[in-house]
Parts: sequence; C-alpha cells; structure tokens
Amino acid sequence: MRRALVMLAAAVPDAEPDSLADWPLGRRDTELLAFRASLFGPELEAIAQCPGCGMEVVLAFTAADLAAPPHAQSAAPLTVSLERYAATLRPVTSRDLLALDNANPEQPDSVSPAETTLTARCITAVTEAGAPVDPGTLPPEVLATLGEELGRADPAAATELSVQCPGCGQGWLAPFHIASYLWSELHHWARRLLMDVHTLARAYGWSERDILALPPLRRQAYLELVVT
Ligand SMILES: [Zn+2]
Repeated sequence: MRRALVMLAAAVPDAEPDSLADWPLGRRDTELLAFRASLFGPELEAIAQCPGCGMEVVLAFTAADLAAPPHAQSAAPLTVSLERYAATLRPVTSRDLLALDNANPEQPDSVSPAETTLTARCITAVTEAGAPVDPGTLPPEVLATLGEELGRADPAAATELSVQCPGCGQGWLAPFHIASYLWSELHHWARRLLMDVHTLARAYGWSERDILALPPLRRQAYLELVVT
C-alpha cells in the first residue's frame, strides 16, 4: 500500500505528498498507469492461469485495454437507497487502506471483515427509516451491498482484462493491479541497472557516476562488447 503512494509521489512530483493519500483509488491507478507508460512504454505483459485447464496464458495488452471510461472516475459522493436505509458514501482512498493495514498488520485470510470495515469508513452519512445511525452498526448484508456500489462507482480502481484461454477456450476476467505490477517492474529494472554498473565498472574501472551518465544506448553497446 505504501509502495503505491511512493510511486504516485514520483509520478506527481508537484502534488503535496500527504494529499495523494486522499485520492480515490481509481484516480491513483489511472495516474500510475500513465506514469508506467512514460517510463517503459505502452505495452504491458502479464501471466494469468486459466481457471478451466490451469494453463498459463501470457497476456499482452496496453493501458488503453484497461482504462475505465472518463465519466466513471468521479470523486462525487455516492448516494444509495436500500430498503429502509439511505447512505451517502465517498470513494475509497489509499488512506483507508493504510488504516486497515495498521488495524490488521497480519493480513487476514478472509478479506470480508476488512471489506465491511472499509465500506463503513467510506459512509459519510446513513439513515434507517429517516433516523441517522452509526455506519458500524449496519447489518453485514447492507454493508456488503454498499461495498459493491462503492466498487461500481470507481471502476478504474479494479481493472480487469478479458482473457480467452488458447488451450481450452474458456473466457474469464483476470484482475490487473498496476501498483504491484509497476513495483516489481521497477525492482527488476533497478536490479538490472545495478548489474550493468557492476559489469562495466569491473571491465573498465569506470565509476558508477560515469557509467550512469552514459546515454542508455552507449551503455548497452559497451555491455555487449564486454559480454561477447
Ligand atoms: Zn484453459
């Protein structure tokens, strides 16, 4: 969770870092997708396992395949009427997820208690038969329905890819999480850069600073000379 905010602060350097935690998750993920495209280009690749036959399917796609329609990204409060309840909700933010992390440092196996806590946090007002009630006292099934409405109101926070298995033909929707994807991509990129510096420093006796100052194509050319 904190990783997503670290990357978001790099993506939006002009923003007050603390304010980024209050962005709706869909806005956060849309920004991270654009940031990722500016660093590594528009093509993404992931692996999903077919729920039908277990085959590992390689997915090649672009951010456009994931993007939610612009009208879907709304920070406006959501109002939901449900039997005798009427609730006003705000979008889920990183701050909410951080609060849950702190409350449950050991991630529970079942996410449902955390999800209802999350939904209750996002209810800004709720009435039962016209009288205000505490969101924490709502029946679980009411919280569950309100949680689904929250998800529908911010679809960019739960991006999915439509996949068809080339082995058995089964189609399914695979969830895609840009924050963990980009974090692991940056991790591998940094590790590779470190190895490249190590290889060139050992071969030529250059300093780290000199190696990093080389244009990437020149650095690559020297690497190929060393390795071959
Ligand atoms: Zn399959």
